[in-house]
Amino acid sequence: MDIFDLMDDEGHEQVIFCHDPRAKLKSIIAIHDTTLGPALGGTRMWPYRNTQEALIDVLRLSEGMTYKASVAGLALGGGKAVIIGDPKTEKTEELLRAHGQFVDTLCGRYITAEDVGISVDDMEFVYQETKYVTGIDSSPRGSGDPSPVTAFGCYHGIKASCLKQLGSDDLKGVRVAVQGAGHVGYYLCQDLAAEGAIITITDIEPSKVERVVNDFGATAVEPDAIYDVECEVFAPCALGAIINDRTVRRLRCRIVAGAANNQLAEDRHGDALDARGILYAPDYVINAGGLINVYSEIVGYDHDTSMQKARGIYDTLLSIFEIAEEEKIPSYKAADWLACQRLREAREESEKPDEMSAPAPV
Ligand code: NAD
Repeated sequence: MDIFDLMDDEGHEQVIFCHDPRAKLKSIIAIHDTTLGPALGGTRMWPYRNTQEALIDVLRLSEGMTYKASVAGLALGGGKAVIIGDPKTEKTEELLRAHGQFVDTLCGRYITAEDVGISVDDMEFVYQETKYVTGIDSSPRGSGDPSPVTAFGCYHGIKASCLKQLGSDDLKGVRVAVQGAGHVGYYLCQDLAAEGAIITITDIEPSKVERVVNDFGATAVEPDAIYDVECEVFAPCALGAIINDRTVRRLRCRIVAGAANNQLAEDRHGDALDARGILYAPDYVINAGGLINVYSEIVGYDHDTSMQKARGIYDTLLSIFEIAEEEKIPSYKAADWLACQRLREAREESEKPDEMSAPAPV
């Protein structure tokens, strides 16, 4: 494995291997692209089997952040960090602070946040070592839990998808099957119920299902049965890779639109949805509310502005569906096209000679 070859494949700018034996820290920070701004993306802690697995993951995740920020119209680049270790048994204050010290050495080229295996409380330790952290409560500019904003953006994304596929964005009577009743799933059900959608819910934790059933009159199904539910919208809000060989043929919906990251196991599953006439709202577009929320921390947090920007996911998705239709490509490819287009434009702009500062001819 040649690391420069891997970086070259998707155009990564910088990869930092961080090692602090005293704190038992082994982490990798990947900065994919800073054309649009500083690289922002969470720190994930996961028991990777080896360094190669961690490296592949951090490269993939940081690239995804570049695309997400670009399509959301934010002045941010893409980055991500992974800590190698089991968050249940190996996470310590010392380890988190050591990670924060490494983040600090980058002087803001990379800004971190929580991710899988790292909670808001854990980030408080990172914040003691660096100010380049978002999504924490104790910071004067802290925006706290981004889930309600993610859910709100996802709700507007579902409306846009319904307009495109069903001819109306009114969710009254629309059947939505929600997978996952966690932070985002719960708030999403709240928004959907307020508009009169008919909700089916599942989760592997019965108490979370019960809460959604009681609060919003949802119907519960077993976790694996969610793929077979006849509905207009399937909203994945739990795991990644749930659109795969096993599930894609089972779906009885007209739209897939939910907040989970990396919903397509592989790109070809996006093609399979397209071939079946199921409209797919690309995950990193519809779930950008959380990123929009933490971005506003950097520029001066204002909850209403975040919500307004998250509402803009409605128009962004409609543009993507239009590109897909015009170019006769699946929507996930249209989203990538839009992200790359914005990056191209920004690069061209930055490469333009500045007439005012051009040296005088000799
Ligand atoms: P969460 O951990 O609070 O909720 C996930 C829920 O999924 C949990 O209740 C869990 O029990 C359930 N679950 C796990 N496996 C399941 C299965 N097989 N079937 C049904 N349910 C299952 O996480 P969250 O913050 O609500 O995030 C949900 C998804 O959205 C994740 O993929 C996350 O990466 C993505 N996302 C979240 C945000 C955010 O602001 N929180 C932003 C962008 C993307």
